[in-house]
Amino acid sequence: MIELGVLRGDGIGPEIVSATTQVVERALDAAAVGVRWVPLPFGRQAIDEFGTPVPDVTLERLDGLTGWIIGPHDNAGYPEQFRGTLSPGGVIRKRYNLFANIRPARALSKSVRAVCPDIDVVIVRENTEGFYADRNMYDGAGEFMPTADVALAVAVFTRAAIERIAHEAFRIAATRRRSVTIAHKTNVLTRTTGLFRDTCMAVADQYPDVEVRGEHVDALAALLVSRPTQFDVIVAENMFGDILSDLTGQLSGSLGMAPSLNASDSKAMAQASHGAAPDIAGRDVANPVAMMLSAAMLLRWLGERAGSGRALVGAADAVEHAVRRTLDAGLSTPDVGGSAGTREFTDGVLTALRPT
Ligand code: ATP
Repeated sequence: MIELGVLRGDGIGPEIVSATTQVVERALDAAAVGVRWVPLPFGRQAIDEFGTPVPDVTLERLDGLTGWIIGPHDNAGYPEQFRGTLSPGGVIRKRYNLFANIRPARALSKSVRAVCPDIDVVIVRENTEGFYADRNMYDGAGEFMPTADVALAVAVFTRAAIERIAHEAFRIAATRRRSVTIAHKTNVLTRTTGLFRDTCMAVADQYPDVEVRGEHVDALAALLVSRPTQFDVIVAENMFGDILSDLTGQLSGSLGMAPSLNASDSKAMAQASHGAAPDIAGRDVANPVAMMLSAAMLLRWLGERAGSGRALVGAADAVEHAVRRTLDAGLSTPDVGGSAGTREFTDGVLTALRPT
């Protein structure tokens, strides 16, 4: 039996998280592992109940957990006092030092309409500093307004943080097609992204079997569309990685297909790459695939570290396989050209998981 936290979040969060817990539960039951869910208040519902999107009761419980599933948050829709500070997801990433954000993008099934059906990349995004100023200060945010007409933001790049994300990227590449591309912008941001590129290059020396190259991030965006198959693993600072992974997610079919895992050396959080999509919330049209595959990444991560490892990796394989079989059978949500609702698609995955 494993214990997993569940934070449902905002917008489409409750729908896709509920779809995911059903699927994970069935896969873990079939693997004879079983799961005890730990539901935790988070997001708008937590503001209403506890006066804050990430209440202490949630953090205290997360302190004792190794893994959890989190829905997207819609902080842009929160009351004024909760905007312009560290985002709720940022609070959790920072507290647990979840420095590695792993975002794979791959077209899963021939039946899914994709701009680049052959894309198969992993964005390895540094998650704690860089250009996202909301999370790169010890206290407060790195954005300032000295006057009503002037806004400043501080970027932070440290060798230690770049080294650890670079190692993550090279380790992942070593298990794939052995190629790492470093996203930078050294012709303009010479010191910050220069330190990022040079530190990644220095780490590359420790992985002689993995080839490495650098690309300016703007050129890289164009190349990902024109020659997507050239890329295997891309290592990027926080904001570049966030933007590039929305691009690769959409190239592989839809934002709704793009999973992600946030990890430290001792804890991991499954979180889809996309946001709360308030425009489609509550309409039973959200694509739960990204959330389901994020949960599969979490099971794999736990399995590679835990005693009951094999069974967890088997459950991760089973979830991925069931999602693919469901898509192959022609069932998909409207964002990828289908007509199934979230619930109907989830039922399809549950059926595909049922032992035959
Ligand atoms: P954030 O800044 O929080 O990442 P965002 O502004 O980038 O959010 P998203 O919420 O990620 O926006 O999504 C952009 C659009 O993509 C949504 O408005 C929605 O139409 C579509 N979309 C995102 N996720 C899904 C999904 N799981 N299923 C279907 N459509 C989705």
